[in-house]
Amino acid sequence: MQEVPDPPLGLGVSACLLGEAVRYDGGHRRQGFLVERWAPFVRLVPFCPEVAMGLGVPRPPVALVREPDGAVVMRRIHDGALLEHEARRAAAQGVAEWAAAGVDGAVLKSGSPSCGPGDVAVGAPDAGAAPGFGRFAAALRAAVPDLPLASEEDLQTPAAREAFLLWVEARQALLDAARRGRDPRPALAPFRRRLWLSAPAGAVAPEHSADPCAWRDWLACVAGRLPPPGAWREALERMHGGLDSRLTPGERQAIAREAAALAAGTATLDAALASLRRAARRLDLPPLRADRLLWPPPPRALEYRDLPA
Ligand code: SF4
Repeated sequence: MQEVPDPPLGLGVSACLLGEAVRYDGGHRRQGFLVERWAPFVRLVPFCPEVAMGLGVPRPPVALVREPDGAVVMRRIHDGALLEHEARRAAAQGVAEWAAAGVDGAVLKSGSPSCGPGDVAVGAPDAGAAPGFGRFAAALRAAVPDLPLASEEDLQTPAAREAFLLWVEARQALLDAARRGRDPRPALAPFRRRLWLSAPAGAVAPEHSADPCAWRDWLACVAGRLPPPGAWREALERMHGGLDSRLTPGERQAIAREAAALAAGTATLDAALASLRRAARRLDLPPLRADRLLWPPPPRALEYRDLPA
């Protein structure tokens, strides 16, 4: 039997992504990775803002449109009925429900005028559209600006799912340390090598600070990203540069293949380290025995990672 982490992470999820038939057309957008892989380990908390608006199922579709004065509002498409008040009320209800349920992150339906996390077409159909946040996603972001948010489209690869779960777990560990008045650095230790790999240029970790706010800011700008191929290669070279002459041609090829798979998003970082770990075990050199990227203390995300099939 698989061990369930205690307490499990809580993730808010657009209800239609869990297979609930709540969409405007009476359908759903069930995501197998949520329902089959994550559900046994994570508390999934569904919410459908359009059902909470009282619009029913099925219902005429709605959109975010830009008014002549520049304001963006929600309207029913076929008759133009203004639904802004109902949308904001339902969004506030969802934020309160997820706060009470203690969600640590959210997976939201891409492109939805209610749920879309930053990829929603906003504007009059004949005046072009600019991407924006759905009403519920915007309310979540305003209430908790560093809450990890992703759409199901963002999470279509194992590497992206691993990066998202590590982000959620790292933030949860950081907040837990802050609540207890502890230095956040030990709490973040299991995640830091992986997060460093993903940090954009210039995002320097506040290594000398025990201030949770400084670490929270850093986490918000580095987390959830995939390691760019260059960063990954650099870390790999730093790690096994001195070893290169000791690697067999087969090991070198396998390591390069795995780095390419990680860069393409088709392998998790953990899976991409498999050949390097095997080589490190074979060579058994002291610097490799202590390397934290190769042998990180396992964050709980590793319990429910998406292993490639
Ligand atoms: S409002 Fe959100 S949860 Fe409800 S059907 Fe639309 S995308 Fe899914």
